[in-house]
Amino acid sequence: MNSIMNTYARFPLTLVRGEGSRVWDERDNGFLDFIAGIAVNTLGHANPAMTKAIAQQASEMLHCSNLFHIPKQQELADQLTTLSGLNAAFFCNSGAEANEAAIKLVRKYFYDQNSPRRSVISATQSFHGRLLSTLTATGQDKVKVGFDPLPPGFSHVPLNDIEALKQAINDQTAAILLEPLQGEGGVNIAEASYLQAVRELCDEHGILLILDEVQTGIGRCGTMFAFEQAGITPDILTLAKGLGGGMPIGAMLASAAVAPAFGPGTHGSTFGGNPLSCTAALTVLSEIGSNDLLNNVMQRGAQLQNGLQELASSYPIITQVRGQGLLVGAELNVEAAPFVAAARDNGLLILMAGPNVLRFLPALNVSAEEVDEALATVAAVLEESETWV
Ligand SMILES: *Cc1c(COP(=O)(O)O)cnc(C)c1O
Repeated sequence: MNSIMNTYARFPLTLVRGEGSRVWDERDNGFLDFIAGIAVNTLGHANPAMTKAIAQQASEMLHCSNLFHIPKQQELADQLTTLSGLNAAFFCNSGAEANEAAIKLVRKYFYDQNSPRRSVISATQSFHGRLLSTLTATGQDKVKVGFDPLPPGFSHVPLNDIEALKQAINDQTAAILLEPLQGEGGVNIAEASYLQAVRELCDEHGILLILDEVQTGIGRCGTMFAFEQAGITPDILTLAKGLGGGMPIGAMLASAAVAPAFGPGTHGSTFGGNPLSCTAALTVLSEIGSNDLLNNVMQRGAQLQNGLQELASSYPIITQVRGQGLLVGAELNVEAAPFVAAARDNGLLILMAGPNVLRFLPALNVSAEEVDEALATVAAVLEESETWV
């Protein structure tokens, strides 16, 4: 038996090195990386600015704990609150932890008000992480099997169905938790009009809106946060994947009304917001700003979607192309797994989202040539698939 617990169905590939949007296996075979560590390697692999910043920080201090003030953590909180319009940040190490912090903050906020509200409504097909609270919030039964008893106070409604949400709300409803674009669940976009209606519904009923931007945040969708495209602001925002560009860090941000519900002793993390992770996140933010990466995400995203759309007109096996920025999905009318494997055999790393969607998540600084190369590989795979589909 393998000495690593068997929690992942891994690809038959061992990656040892990367540069930009290229990675190499242990036999030095190169691949074009349109997975980017599952939307984590924001700046690509071995980014020189990142390497320099974290090496410098490592030479000064890796960790000192939250018993002390941490200047880089303060700087990161200042930048994230300014960018998001929210008031204060809590730092942790992952997406699930950020969502757990959000759920705790919501409960504590209503507890402080002597209100009975404790329950959270989220969407079917959503993904919010694998902690007991966050897998319960997740709208997919497969992640819950075998883990009962699950914490009470969670329910689910279909995305983009405002009537279903109105029906689900009651006087116990504390928060609505949504991804602006469901990444794991199939690259399903929450319509701007839906998000606006949810925001209004929350305001009307005194319910808090939590947006899980663990996958969509930090430029992935072409704006710093996907919610900007709907013209709304959440009460609570969660971030992780792309924030550290490869260093583990998560963040939960909240409005001035809600953030004070957390005081000393209510929540915490030993590693959260350590100097090294915060330096990585600050580097991601400064590189996005100084290299006009949001503009690149919009242009490369359009290039990718247009190219896939063109392929869809020649290969009806692609039934829909959708996404925002560089979070792009191509839905197939067959299982996607053989296409992911064939792409890999042809030197392109892509991912699935649900059983029949191909998901493309390149680094935010991917080039036009690399997008063209990926499209050519997808075209070759579609062509050869006519022999095995
Ligand atoms: C990946 C993901 C999570 C969980 O993040 P972890 O770092 O794996 O805990 C939560 N929410 C969304 C939207 C995600 O894509």
